[in-house]
Amino acid sequence: MLFTWSCIAHAADIPLRVSPAEGIKQLVQGNERYVKEILLHPNRDQEARTRTAIAQKPFAIVLGCSDSRVPPEVLFDQGIGDLFIVRVAGNVVGPIELASIGYAALYLGASSLIVLGHQNCGAIKAVLSGDTENIEPIARLIAPAVKQAKTQAGSQIEDAVKDNVKYVVNQLEHVPLIAKFIKEKKFAVVGGYYGLATGKVELLTPVPIE
Ligand SMILES: [Zn+2]
Repeated sequence: MLFTWSCIAHAADIPLRVSPAEGIKQLVQGNERYVKEILLHPNRDQEARTRTAIAQKPFAIVLGCSDSRVPPEVLFDQGIGDLFIVRVAGNVVGPIELASIGYAALYLGASSLIVLGHQNCGAIKAVLSGDTENIEPIARLIAPAVKQAKTQAGSQIEDAVKDNVKYVVNQLEHVPLIAKFIKEKKFAVVGGYYGLATGKVELLTPVPIE
């Protein structure tokens, strides 16, 4: 067990904005609009600013890479108050990232989480090449997944990125409180791979059903 939450007060009696399945569906549909260039640009007006100034109720959490080419609101065609985003090079999860995720899941009613890796990720490349001098704390979290990728025949950067996403999804699914929410169908965790050139998010793990 990697993490525990000691703070279970108020745990998840917050009404969900949407079901876990609906949340993932909205992300998928938003990404389809982005790829096809038929954007809605939702929730970017004065009404959205006024409404969300009082309280936020994001429907999904994104754990994504800090890479400048992977901006979640853009590639999922979402707006203000829609996504609770944690961005860190290599989309890894440590205690600080988990605390942010826990806040959104416990107190804001977010019902789904996508761990989003991407094509040509510099952090993963650094770990693959062994050149991690300046990113050691992040490299330590990526290393187990990359080791796994290296043992597979012909694997390279894409496999390592995908293995890292699946590794992080698995870590999160085993956090006791997240596991409890998943069992109660109040929460879902999925993994995705973003193609820099295509703009498309490929889902790497099973999607929740209603
Ligand atoms: Zn990256």
